[in-house]
Amino acid sequence: MRVGRPIPAPVRPVCDDCGNIAQLAQTGDSAYPYLEDHGPVWICVPCQAWIGVRPRSRQHAPLGRLANAELRDAKKRLHDALEPLVAAKMRRDGANPFEARGKAIKWLASELNFTLSTPSVHALTREQCEQAIRYVADFQAARQRSSKHAPDAGRKKDASGDGL
Ligand SMILES: [Zn+2]
Repeated sequence: MRVGRPIPAPVRPVCDDCGNIAQLAQTGDSAYPYLEDHGPVWICVPCQAWIGVRPRSRQHAPLGRLANAELRDAKKRLHDALEPLVAAKMRRDGANPFEARGKAIKWLASELNFTLSTPSVHALTREQCEQAIRYVADFQAARQRSSKHAPDAGRKKDASGDGL
């Protein structure tokens, strides 16, 4: 007789704000936060904190931590701050945007000593997002200063090293 593999318990994320276990909501459910269908989400309704699920995950594994309005805003600002670096990485290495963003987050995590469950912006806390945004701004400012005062420095291989 063939013994079936035990079915892993679904990963039900906990809300960072209130500690409640999130519920899974699909488009059309009253708890669903979007008007359009953006795929299923884990949501804490009282806190309006939610996170999407991994594509093709049968367990609906969450993409990261539940994000309330402030964290969603911080993630968006970090995403925007990283886009110039991501675009440069794609041009330089022919990386796709997902790889380039993953590498950017790994770089930030190692620069800032973050321990992340996954190398994704969705794993970051609000504090970590704010820290990363400041770090990227300082990094870009330093790079601009060095290219202004030493036009040749940027030409040297990796002199402009963005660490990606
Ligand atoms: Zn909550």
